[in-house]
Amino acid sequence: MGLELTVLGCAGSHTGPGRACSGYLVTADDTRLLVDCGNGSTANLQRFARFDQLDAVLVTHRHVDHCIDLIGMYYGLRFHREGARRIDLYAAAEVVDTLTGLLSSDSALGFHEVFDVHEVAGGDHVEVGPLQLSFADSVHPVPTVSVAVQHGGRRLVYSADSAGGPALVDLARGADLFLCEATWQGDPGDHPPDMHLTARGAAEVADRAEVRRLVLTHVLGSLDPHRSVEEAARVTGIPVEAAMDLRTWAL
Ligand SMILES: [Zn+2]
Ligand SMILES: [Zn+2]
Repeated sequence: MGLELTVLGCAGSHTGPGRACSGYLVTADDTRLLVDCGNGSTANLQRFARFDQLDAVLVTHRHVDHCIDLIGMYYGLRFHREGARRIDLYAAAEVVDTLTGLLSSDSALGFHEVFDVHEVAGGDHVEVGPLQLSFADSVHPVPTVSVAVQHGGRRLVYSADSAGGPALVDLARGADLFLCEATWQGDPGDHPPDMHLTARGAAEVADRAEVRRLVLTHVLGSLDPHRSVEEAARVTGIPVEAAMDLRTWAL
């Protein structure tokens, strides 16, 4: 089976009507990688895979809309009916320290009891089964990684939360599918700098990177993603779609 992306949650900053926060299941062959686990996303994950069927989890940064469901996953793995399970957790700096304070665990090991924790940053390369992951540091107020996932000659690139910039353009260059955050709508100048992209800003990054397909995600929970697609399509000829919970893209 080739590289596939299933959206488990795509609402930015907070949940929306029927929309969970960031979570993406990336699969190829029999390998399953969960990318981000924001509020509500692991409820959708379990329609496709149990926690113990994941080969690894990647958390791009410590903002709760990308990581808070890791707490529930900890309990699911630690109190698994056949004994505690362990999986690899790749996480940007500060993710584990931030969540540890929320864990009501009697174990001094905390997250390390079920997760083999590996901190990742821009420039790192990691293999999860046949998936090859490359990271770039993102422009965002806390340590955040954007990620490229390569398999069988196909490339999926996920911006994570990002205000764009040259490192994201380089990582996304020529991607078969660019899953790019587009938190805001309207004029980029109307929003604070170095935090997020608008739909138009995402389209401009996609254009510079010459990607083949753009999927907008992390649209603010209170906004209509279809309007974001309209705004992006006005400034790029690249095919644009909106991420939707439970939808799968085959690369
Ligand atoms: Zn976010
Ligand atoms: Zn964020």
